[in-house]
Amino acid sequence: MNVVDDKTVVREYFNQTGFDRWRRIYGDGEVNKVQLDIRTGHQQTVDTVLGWLNDDGNLAELTICDAGCGVGSLSIPIAQSGAKVFSSDISEKMVGEAKERATALGLANNPTFLVQDLEELSGKYHTVICLDVLIHYPAEKAIVMIEHLASLADDRLILSFAPKTFLLTILKRIGEFFPGPSKTTRAYQHREAEIVKMLESCGFKIKRDAMTSTSFYFSRILEAVRR
Ligand code: SAH
Repeated sequence: MNVVDDKTVVREYFNQTGFDRWRRIYGDGEVNKVQLDIRTGHQQTVDTVLGWLNDDGNLAELTICDAGCGVGSLSIPIAQSGAKVFSSDISEKMVGEAKERATALGLANNPTFLVQDLEELSGKYHTVICLDVLIHYPAEKAIVMIEHLASLADDRLILSFAPKTFLLTILKRIGEFFPGPSKTTRAYQHREAEIVKMLESCGFKIKRDAMTSTSFYFSRILEAVRR
């Protein structure tokens, strides 16, 4: 499968079966045990990133680009902290859900939401964040995406990905990630060394890192800042 197909498959997945599945996982209604585990893990990733942003004490002054924002799990709390948030996602259904969630919380103009492929994003932001998106793309594509995201970031880029070291564990459990009819995209793991190398060649260095692991969810989080 070539990379163009990967992107089409991902977009269609998140506009159809994937939308229903992930909206539920990223919600608070009833889900099965595996989905609950993934929800818990993902929330830990979101909380880690929010912790980093808040620890710096200047969040309200920043512009943040949340690329592949999903249903707004990170964008919404960041906007509530006062930062200006530009949220985008390739799936119009995910963006629609994110907008609804923001509106229900009284957030009218911030975040701003856009249906857009992250590779088509332009502009400059203090911080660019891309959580749990790269898992949908093979290594050579993920690297190009990171390079583009880095070009949008004046100061900082925060990424998460499924690390290659957990490959076997994940492969054993992969059926649980996308069970039954939802099984329409595959999960790619990435080598941290390759990602760090690309970040360094874009002029960044790693400042903070974290790892979220639950039974079915693995996410390595890197914060890279301009040298
Ligand atoms: N970052 C969010 C959502 C993660 S789910 C969070 O952590 O809560 C992955 C999301 O990436 C989906 O909403 C999917 O539509 C989006 N996505 C996948 N490929 C993308 C691309 N090329 N450009 C923008 N968004 C993309």
